[in-house]
Amino acid sequence: MKDRIMKRWDEWEKLFTSGSKEDWPRKDFEMMIDYFYEKIDFYEKNYNPCGHTGFESKPCDICGYPIPSILIGKLKSQIAELKEGKNVSKV
Ligand SMILES: [Zn+2]
Repeated sequence: MKDRIMKRWDEWEKLFTSGSKEDWPRKDFEMMIDYFYEKIDFYEKNYNPCGHTGFESKPCDICGYPIPSILIGKLKSQIAELKEGKNVSKV
């Protein structure tokens, strides 16, 4: 990924130093920002469901953040409970 981005940078640099007014580098840059924000959003939704900031002094009682083993343990127990039919609303 880094090599591909730096290759794009080299192309942008050539364009900028040539004095070109083309706008594709800006669109290119926005696409990269969007790509990384998608990755951050995915991480936040899946690995930080409570929206912790990282400044908490102890692991969360709900999700276990920031200790992955606690989070995994919580998720495993939730899956087991769901399989047993607990916490599932009955219609
Ligand atoms: Zn939490």
